[in-house]
Amino acid sequence: MTNLWPQQEAQRIVQRFPQADTYILETGFGPSGHPHMGTVGEVVRTHFVAMALAELGKKSLVLVFSDDMDGLRKIPVNIDAPWLQEHLGKPVSAIPDPYGCCPSYSAHMNKELREMLDDTGIPYKFVSSTQEYNSGTYNSVLQLSLDRNQAILDVILPTLRPENRADWFPIMPVCENCGRVNTTKVLSYDATKATVEYTCTEELKGAFGCGHHGNQPVGDGRSKFGWKVDWGARWAVFGINYEMYGKDLIESAKLSKQITKMLGGRPPVDMFYEMFLDESGRKISKSVGKGLTVENFTRWGTPESLYYLMFKNPRQQKKLSNETVIQYMDEVLKMAPEDPQYKYIYFGGSRPQLPIVYSDLINIIAAVGVTDVPVLKEFIIDIYGQEISENWEYVEELLTPALNYYTDFILPQRSFPVLTPEDNKLLDLFLNLIGRETDADAVQTGTYEIAKENGIPPKDFFQLLYRILLGKPSGPRIGGFVAQMGADRISSIIQQHRQ
Ligand SMILES: [Zn+2]
Ligand SMILES: [Zn+2]
Repeated sequence: MTNLWPQQEAQRIVQRFPQADTYILETGFGPSGHPHMGTVGEVVRTHFVAMALAELGKKSLVLVFSDDMDGLRKIPVNIDAPWLQEHLGKPVSAIPDPYGCCPSYSAHMNKELREMLDDTGIPYKFVSSTQEYNSGTYNSVLQLSLDRNQAILDVILPTLRPENRADWFPIMPVCENCGRVNTTKVLSYDATKATVEYTCTEELKGAFGCGHHGNQPVGDGRSKFGWKVDWGARWAVFGINYEMYGKDLIESAKLSKQITKMLGGRPPVDMFYEMFLDESGRKISKSVGKGLTVENFTRWGTPESLYYLMFKNPRQQKKLSNETVIQYMDEVLKMAPEDPQYKYIYFGGSRPQLPIVYSDLINIIAAVGVTDVPVLKEFIIDIYGQEISENWEYVEELLTPALNYYTDFILPQRSFPVLTPEDNKLLDLFLNLIGRETDADAVQTGTYEIAKENGIPPKDFFQLLYRILLGKPSGPRIGGFVAQMGADRISSIIQQHRQ
């Protein structure tokens, strides 16, 4: 038995729910802002478990659950629509689309997410919270929660700040007058009739309730569960068997399990994952820099490199930096088809077996110093041979993020040295060396010897070569790089920068 984590998770699921016909795996999406690759990554992570269940001969279904009944709490910084202010506190499914093309705000965000998910080829079922509340899926559980209201309060209230306890209620009615959900306050309830009495008098970040005083049924979309209860209620309503969540939600998940039981359900098998950290070790969600994150990872890497990032031990904390994407790209490109991880990472289809590695590709771009694809194509085919030309479409999929990487991270810092007569003398010796030696190791050793014989530290000479060849102070092993690029091409790059 292999010990890949999705396989371990699949075994835990089957052990806990041996009778299930189809296992329901859930992942959530908050449509109050644009989806990003981090959201996709979470669905992919869940899909890995679905794949492992399939290996055990078990059927499963990945539910992508959109919380589109949630009220809009603030206008996202990347949406330029100040008029949204008047809609704060309304369910995002009841707010107009800021882009004007979809039936609602959340319909737009849901559409964007579905397009991103469809690109991955992962099978999933999209569920809209609003549709489920409106169609009555939640009705019986809403009523049940009123029956068990005191028990729910006993569990939740101790987790709230004392000043928030008095007004808290598990259900949030949607105001029948203004349509807001975040501004209502329950005054009393009738568990037999399944109704609540409320006023719309609360404040939310500058948005005020309309002052309405009403009494209405809780079912058919007239209310929703508050967020402390919503998750557990969903597990009960949809019979969720498995869910993963970030480490920051451990306490919420504990609470949700209790709620699920109170509402007649069985808690799912669950797993928390570690959050990604930025270079300085801060949680990415808290950092303000514009460095590399899971959200923008695929600007500099292929989807498979992101899948690999999601696949690698989720319980291990990972720091993300510019170099991370190169490391992950190299690892996936070097991964052999026999590797048990391969079929998970390449679930969308396998890749051709080519000798090309991402870091080499980036070094070639830096050495050639152009971003023009036809020019690069000629170079790359010349270096790697005809099989590259036959798989050019695939190589271009690597070239696109590699060019982004070059343009964003390398080009702005590229600088070439002003050569001294001593530098020129050393470079002549180097050109002479690569003119007579073709073997990578011989070039490497020969470069050391040139430095030593001329009384300069080898480190300094290598740095000079990197700076003249790549415009930066470090790079790949010189011997291998010369062998790969070819002595003629290296010579012409050096000559070019000498002029
Ligand atoms: Zn739209
Ligand atoms: Zn109102």
